[in-house]
Amino acid sequence: MLVGMIKLSTKAHQWVNGLGALLFPPVCLFCKQPLSADALFSDSDGSAFDPANTAGLCCSACVQAIHIWSHQCCVRCGTGLPAAMSPGPCGHCLTHPPAQAETYSLYDYHGPVRDALLEWKLQGREAAVRWLLQAAMPRLSEMIKSDDLLLPVPMPISRMRQHGQHHAANMCHWLADEIACDWDWRVLRRIGEQPRQSALSGSARRKNLRKAFALAADYGQRWRQKSSSSISVWIVDDILTTGSTLHFAAKTSLRLGMTVKVLSLARTSYKG
Ligand SMILES: [Zn+2]
Ligand SMILES: [Zn+2]
Repeated sequence: MLVGMIKLSTKAHQWVNGLGALLFPPVCLFCKQPLSADALFSDSDGSAFDPANTAGLCCSACVQAIHIWSHQCCVRCGTGLPAAMSPGPCGHCLTHPPAQAETYSLYDYHGPVRDALLEWKLQGREAAVRWLLQAAMPRLSEMIKSDDLLLPVPMPISRMRQHGQHHAANMCHWLADEIACDWDWRVLRRIGEQPRQSALSGSARRKNLRKAFALAADYGQRWRQKSSSSISVWIVDDILTTGSTLHFAAKTSLRLGMTVKVLSLARTSYKG
């Protein structure tokens, strides 16, 4: 009887799904084109980037257009390097290393990745960005340990009011849920209001950011049990451009007594 009911329920479920697909055919999260079974990307090359790890709502053309940030890079600042020079340090880090010990970016800020981030930030639609994170989860689960702590780069209050959300904090929340690690948006604080970084040149960005961050007064109490150089604190942001913001956020976070690393969903090739 139970088996019969399960069979009936499965058939009904399949029928409803089939009807749903007919009325609302699935579309690619990135280009919004209807997905046909043959265009659906379901193959995995076994690398750290695994589109098959996701719900599969991305067409193969968009998957091909997503550029993964090269793994051959300077481990300190994350800049791409020729294979023979990887993992660095690069020439710049030999003389001017950033505050963080390691820097990782998942994607090049380009094509569908750029579109997904703009759609998230300007229209509040997060599905494509969540797909990108999910696709990178095999690599992220290797990089981030369950003892680690994720801290979003704090956003000026005025910009949080304007957008109604804190994008880096959302990223930390999603990652922490997947990896089962801690995250805390209250530890690293933004002080005062600064002009938008994108409106400034490279040297003006650094000057603007020098005193922009602080640790919350009670951070020691909150994370004392974690303070150890064997545990990493990850400063998380959605887009890395010149790296100045993350450098100064990392510099302030060194006072937590943990190894400080940086993670961005995407990175531009812009040099400030
Ligand atoms: Zn597409
Ligand atoms: Zn470097």
